[in-house]
Amino acid sequence: MTDLRSLIRDIPDYPKPGILYRDITPLLCDAAALHEAVEQMAAPFLDAGVDIVAAAEARGFIFGTPLAMRLGAGFVPIRKPGKLPFDLHSFAYQLEYGTDELQIHVDGIQPGQRVLVVDDLLATGGTVEACLRLLEKCDAKIVGCSFLLHLEPLGGQARLEPYDVHSVLTYR
Ligand code: AMP
Repeated sequence: MTDLRSLIRDIPDYPKPGILYRDITPLLCDAAALHEAVEQMAAPFLDAGVDIVAAAEARGFIFGTPLAMRLGAGFVPIRKPGKLPFDLHSFAYQLEYGTDELQIHVDGIQPGQRVLVVDDLLATGGTVEACLRLLEKCDAKIVGCSFLLHLEPLGGQARLEPYDVHSVLTYR
C-alpha cells in the first residue's frame, strides 16, 4: 500500500512565519497515492447512502468530485462570492483578520438529501463549519465530513460537532 504520509511535504513558515504548511501536491501527482487517498476518504461512507458530496473551493474540489463518483453521488460546489450565477444561500464567517463568505445554490440540494462534506485538510475548522451552516440552510441531512489531513492541535473537530468526522492522516 502507498505510504501517503511520506508524500505530504512540510514547508515551514509558509505562507507566513510560524505556519507549518502541509503541501499535498507530491501526493496529488502520484497516481497510486491519489487513488489510495480517495479510496480511504470514501471508505467509511460506502454504505452511508450519500446522495451529494459538497465541497468548498479550491482544494475541496480536488477530492470532492472523485469521492462523489466513488460513492455514486452528485457533487455540489460551495464557492466564494461572485462565482455562482443563480439564487444563493450565503454564510459569512470570522477569520483571524476580517471575515469571509461562502455561498451555495439554493437548488443544489433538496431537503432531506444525504450530504457528505469533503475538504483536503481540517485546520481550525472555519471553512467546513461554514459549509455545514450552508447545508443546514438547505435542510440537508449531513452524513459526516471527510478529510485527507487533520491538524489535531488546531481544534477544528470541536467546531464540527455533532457531525461525524473522518480523516485519513492525523497530525498530533
Ligand atoms: P480551516 O478553515 O482553518 O480548517 O482551513 C481551511 C483550509 O486552509 C484547508 O482546507 C486547507 O486547504 C488550508 N490550510 C489551513 N492550514 C493549512 C496548513 N497548515 N497547511 C496547508 N493548508 C492549510
